[in-house]
Amino acid sequence: MKTISVIVPCYNEEESTPLFFDAFLKETAGMNAEFEFIFVDDGSSDKTLEQFRLLRERDSRIHYISFSRNFGKESAMFAGMEAAKGDYIAIMDVDLQDPPSLLPAMLQCIEQEGFDCVATRRVTRKGEPKIRSFFARMFYRIINRISKTEIVDGARDFRLMTRQMVDSILRLREVSRFSKGIFSWVGYQTKWLEYENVERVAGETKWSFWSLLLYSIDGIIAFSTAPLAIASVIGVLFCLIAFLLIIFFFVKTLIWGDPVAGFPATICIVLFLGGIQLFCIGILGQYMSKTFLETKNRPIYITKEQR
Ligand code: UDP
Ligand code: MG
Repeated sequence: MKTISVIVPCYNEEESTPLFFDAFLKETAGMNAEFEFIFVDDGSSDKTLEQFRLLRERDSRIHYISFSRNFGKESAMFAGMEAAKGDYIAIMDVDLQDPPSLLPAMLQCIEQEGFDCVATRRVTRKGEPKIRSFFARMFYRIINRISKTEIVDGARDFRLMTRQMVDSILRLREVSRFSKGIFSWVGYQTKWLEYENVERVAGETKWSFWSLLLYSIDGIIAFSTAPLAIASVIGVLFCLIAFLLIIFFFVKTLIWGDPVAGFPATICIVLFLGGIQLFCIGILGQYMSKTFLETKNRPIYITKEQR
């Protein structure tokens, strides 16, 4: 019988943790597989770690890692994958937004249909603010146009993968991790299961609009260099316009002889070009700051306690 390692990143989830474990056991009772649980406490400030300890007393299949501070879900998933020993590896949110009832079907896709990975995407965004859905859609449209790596709209981190695929993911040791891209970048045959959005059982989402926006910029920087080309394209375009204008005003002055009037026009042009230049330097800065962070080669997470 194969072992499935279930990785559960948790950040301030004292309420959801026991609910998750009970629901999980109930819904996967009939499965033909052994389980190993790796709960990752991502520097919670509530009693999440205590909950892990209690669960471990109840069930020896439970392992946990506790970070020295909050490193983010990406780091938590990475730590879980490093600790996992199973033949298959599943990643699940603790808030039950990733229904454990899908796992039997996922296992079947890998064992019987020969896929390396079964991933899930939600087809609805019910219960989410409209404006957030709008920006999310726009993000997926932009990134898929400018990146060679396919980023699937609505893809969740909930997936079941083979050991081989996880070993490949672990070879990507970048510090700014964008898993939606990494899962797709490593390749392998992925089957997509679709389901309706489920609302979380307890607690609140950790993502503010601002943090999602920054995360989406990270994603674009990590999986596309297209923004860098924007600066060159804009530069060439403006040189061309300037060249045509020079000829136009030169000829106009030769024929009619009147000087070019327009102080306001000059100010507008100076401000406009200044803005574009800063924008392009900003893009460069984004890539440079990421390069800077990666060259420091800091660890992706720091463990305080592990069982
Ligand atoms: N999470 C984490 N570290 C963080 C933020 C979130 O480990 O810094 C975990 C969180 O406990 C949950 C999962 O990541 O298990 C998904 O988080 P959340 O439900 O807040 O995100 P959403 O489902 O709203 O996208
Ligand atoms: Mg959630």
